[in-house]
Amino acid sequence: MTTVVPGLMQKKQFNIINILQHASIWHGNSEVVTNSVEGGIHRINYFDLYDRTCQLSNALSTLGINPGDRIGTMAWNTWRHLECWYGLSGFGAICHTLNPRLFPDQIEYIVNHAENRFIFIDTTFIPVIENVLDKLPKLEGLIVMTDQEHMTDDMQKLTIPVYCYEELLEAESKSFDWPVFSEDTASSLCYTSGTTGNPKGVLYSHASNLNHAMVISHVDLFGLSASDSFLQIVPMCHANGWGLPHNVPMVGGKLVLPGPFMDGKSLFELMTAEKCNKTCAVPTVMTFLQDYLDSENLQIPYMSDIYIGGSAVPQSMIEEFETKYDAAVKHGWGMTELVVGTFNCNLPFMKELSFEQRMKLLSKQGRPAFGMEIKIVDDDGKSLPHDGVAFGKLMARGPRVIERYYKADKSALDSNGWFDTGDVSTIDENGFMQITDRAKDIIKSGGEWISSVDIENSAVRHPEVQIAACLGVKHAKWEERPLLIVVKKEGFNPTKKSIVDVIAQEHAKWQLPDEIVFIDEMPLTATGKIDKKPLRIKFNNFLIKGEINE
Ligand code: ADP
Repeated sequence: MTTVVPGLMQKKQFNIINILQHASIWHGNSEVVTNSVEGGIHRINYFDLYDRTCQLSNALSTLGINPGDRIGTMAWNTWRHLECWYGLSGFGAICHTLNPRLFPDQIEYIVNHAENRFIFIDTTFIPVIENVLDKLPKLEGLIVMTDQEHMTDDMQKLTIPVYCYEELLEAESKSFDWPVFSEDTASSLCYTSGTTGNPKGVLYSHASNLNHAMVISHVDLFGLSASDSFLQIVPMCHANGWGLPHNVPMVGGKLVLPGPFMDGKSLFELMTAEKCNKTCAVPTVMTFLQDYLDSENLQIPYMSDIYIGGSAVPQSMIEEFETKYDAAVKHGWGMTELVVGTFNCNLPFMKELSFEQRMKLLSKQGRPAFGMEIKIVDDDGKSLPHDGVAFGKLMARGPRVIERYYKADKSALDSNGWFDTGDVSTIDENGFMQITDRAKDIIKSGGEWISSVDIENSAVRHPEVQIAACLGVKHAKWEERPLLIVVKKEGFNPTKKSIVDVIAQEHAKWQLPDEIVFIDEMPLTATGKIDKKPLRIKFNNFLIKGEINE
């Protein structure tokens, strides 16, 4: 029985819109800057962005959208996309970010599974939806995220009602009566990219998003403040944008958005013009930036902290940003099912470490923040020690971790409430977690296991290697052996031997790849990570029959 104690604190059910309200009142002049889809830099401050978000929410009512409806967004990182995040969730609908880079049949599956009634869409992506439009029976309309000037006749020819975003907003009032509901109401929906089977929906609540936003601002995570100028490269459709579209406005920082311009040159120009001191991205995108800086001999003087995750960050990347560009790489691990899981940070003992020791530690995926429980277990579910050597299944638990996938009958948790992340990792005596591999990527050579991530990280130390993927492929004697797929840096021609020599500096002989294959372009997933699925299909029999399956 609960005892009511007189004198307790107030209880407020937070709605995500409260973040933007706070930003508009207390950081009204702080800006959201976008490299816009239409071309040119667009600026708006939080005060005006909040007004427009009210207009958007009024427009949702006009369109007949109801609380609880899943409304899609297929959009670049822009100020309009930010308005949708807040407007849809604040209204009580569910903002469902769709990744336009998924295969058409995945997009069809996701839109139908989520029963999207409307999709807010950038002009760029109309062909993506047009392609599957006749297979989306529940879709009632598209809202094109642009102004009248950029609406084209082709859009009106689509077999579905098409609205102009700016026109919809113009007609509406700048005030909106935000509904009050339980914090546990769903606010946002994001699907995993479905590397195996169909994509799965992860439904976040106002409470989980707010909890996440408050925690990841901590100094040992994103350390955000009103003085920051944050370049959000991670797409807002990738793992809930790592939570940052909530975080940065919450502290009133300047939010800089690259729109469709994700190449090294555009990112460099934007971060320099907007004096960005922090950014976040997956490693492949950071490689584009590094290559551009390198080829043009440029510096990034304002940038101090680069948050990288989504796949393992090679130690060589951390070293290069620190020594050449005076920027600290903060390596983190997360997933759609829990957004940010761990991040690397500085602890007092690290001051005593040599450069080499410190870099080794910084290349780990780091430590969890408050509210994120993690542990590693063996195949019988027994907890493994934090000694940096024992590796096992990485499990997570807490109010920012999924309970079950959207519309699933069964819980995704074990009987003690732990979620199996599908990753294999170690945790060292200082609490630093290091991903050994995704469980399905570990190479099982005879009785021994080889981490594909470790081999890849060593391979990219070679100055002429652009990107490398290590696969476990069939082997007559050892069951599986490592095969390394390499894309060379433009203008270079490294020999296989020189690459093996570099890897051998950090690995035992039996761990070295049996063969190296050069390809022109690395397949990437919809979130910009190396896509091993097509590589496996192509090269699985390579070591047995020398066969390439086209
Ligand atoms: P997708 O399936 O689209 O890549 P997620 O971003 O949710 O979607 O993928 C999460 C997975 O990415 C994790 O389970 C893990 O395997 C991998 N991952 C994320 N961050 C890292 C990292 N820093 N190092 C290694 N792997 C990572």
